[in-house]
Amino acid sequence: MIRTRFAPSPTGYLHIGGLRTALYAYLFAKKNGGKFILRIEDTDLERKVEGANEIIYRTLKSAGLNYDEGPDAGGGFGPYVQSQRKEIYAEYARRLIERGGAYYCFCTKEHLSELHKNGAAKYDKRCLKIDPAEARRRVESGEPHVIRQNIPLTGVSSYTDLVFGEIKVDNKELEDNVLIKSDGMPTYNFANVVDDYLMGINYVIRGVEYLSSTPKYNLIYDAMGWPRPNYIHLQPIMKDANRKLSKRDGDASYEDFIAKGYLSDAIVNYIALLGWSPKDNREKLSLSEMQERFSLDGVSKSASIFDENKMRWLNSLYVKELPPEKFHALALPFYAKLDYLKGLNLEVLSRLLQPRAEVLCDIAALTAFIAAFKDFDLSLFNNEKHKTDSAAAKALLPALIARVENNYETLSDALAALSESLNVKKGHVLWIFRIALSGAAVTPGGATELTELFGKTETLARLKATLARL
Ligand code: GLU
Repeated sequence: MIRTRFAPSPTGYLHIGGLRTALYAYLFAKKNGGKFILRIEDTDLERKVEGANEIIYRTLKSAGLNYDEGPDAGGGFGPYVQSQRKEIYAEYARRLIERGGAYYCFCTKEHLSELHKNGAAKYDKRCLKIDPAEARRRVESGEPHVIRQNIPLTGVSSYTDLVFGEIKVDNKELEDNVLIKSDGMPTYNFANVVDDYLMGINYVIRGVEYLSSTPKYNLIYDAMGWPRPNYIHLQPIMKDANRKLSKRDGDASYEDFIAKGYLSDAIVNYIALLGWSPKDNREKLSLSEMQERFSLDGVSKSASIFDENKMRWLNSLYVKELPPEKFHALALPFYAKLDYLKGLNLEVLSRLLQPRAEVLCDIAALTAFIAAFKDFDLSLFNNEKHKTDSAAAKALLPALIARVENNYETLSDALAALSESLNVKKGHVLWIFRIALSGAAVTPGGATELTELFGKTETLARLKATLARL
């Protein structure tokens, strides 16, 4: 059975790149009837952020990436949080030492910085020479120490990445990295191997930054006599040709995009295409459609550039498809931030905005005309096509006000009848009406829809205010 995992460090947000890694691990497992596992990699205690694990749980669930096993989901391979697995790493480090794959190192900081000063590119394996019984005695007596990986000085390590092909390194390029730190916590270099093995992970899907250190991890698998997993490394998502997308530049976190009013289905759909393409080149795909189509040969070897406009476009397709009640419910928090919408018919507003808002944050711009009405530019009445200007508006407005007062329920017909009786085109009447009511040349919805939005009282107040300015 295929088992993949997503192994984020809890940094306080889930980066779009991380979410894409999770998505591919999820799709690959699900496509093949396997299991998708969440593991929290929190051994770097200094970086710990309060509530960060919950952000990860919440984000994955909101994106529809439901994990079969994980800290809050249970499973037979736990605990799924690395800081709760300290004893496990200690035990496996001991076994690795017995097998010659690691050794205790008692070198002081002073010695190490001296090495550096003298130009050594890497640790000199000095402590490997200590007799094992002697090393154990020093450990038992409480002498500060770390555990280092014992990398062969000669030979070549290689493996086949399922995206990048064969990866080779000379062992002499590799350093005897620390596996267990002096506080007893493992480093990533060790914990990822022990956990992937113990959790039965057979496909490791992660960022390309681990591509070249994977031979080191494989040496641990080999030394322990464990089968190596398959590897799939993913190129980063870039902001442009030279810079990676980063939270520091703003907006690279899933929750930031949600707060802006992107829909989770659209985000997930868009990021799936950043580094993978389905054979049929379709662009709008639901999670289950992606699952059906996902395959490793569609995974790209080159980095992709995040294009928010493209995500906007996809989002607009999803927004249009929402059931109207759902759009309305999602729009309400955005309305609540805009004081000038108080007292308006928000159901009508939702009806007008759903086809026009690509992202829910567009609501502010699409409704800005409502607040700007007070001193709108009267030259908007000048329209050649509709043969209107402010003098025509001044002449027509009393009749328009009367129609609203007396024929509010059947306004559309009343305005049609008015244009007929005056022998002018309907557009002439409607243009003047719309400008006088909204103060804008472009509005979501036409004259009668806007009347519904404002309600009779506000409509009259606005028309009268405009007349007073003419
Ligand atoms: N904790 C690592 C990271 O966030 C995970 C790498 C991996 O998936 O092995 O980059």
